Amino acid sequence: MILKILIIGAVITAVYFLFFKTTPEAKVSKKSAKKESKKLDADEMVECATCGVYAEVEECILSNGKYYCSRECLAKAK
Ligand SMILES: [Zn+2]
Repeated sequence: MILKILIIGAVITAVYFLFFKTTPEAKVSKKSAKKESKKLDADEMVECATCGVYAEVEECILSNGKYYCSRECLAKAK
């Protein structure tokens, strides 16, 4: 009987520690990783394939794997 109680108690504490130790860390690391990747993407500077001007990825037009700063540059490339 005592052995059974000890085993059950050990299992409960093991599960308790696993649950409380792993979940908050996993959440934090996932959140920070997401934030970092988002920041990198938004701030990344790319060169216009036509005029060579550097602009942020969000403002650029992506066409055939190349970035263009404006629609004029995209039209010139074609
Ligand atoms: Zn351009």
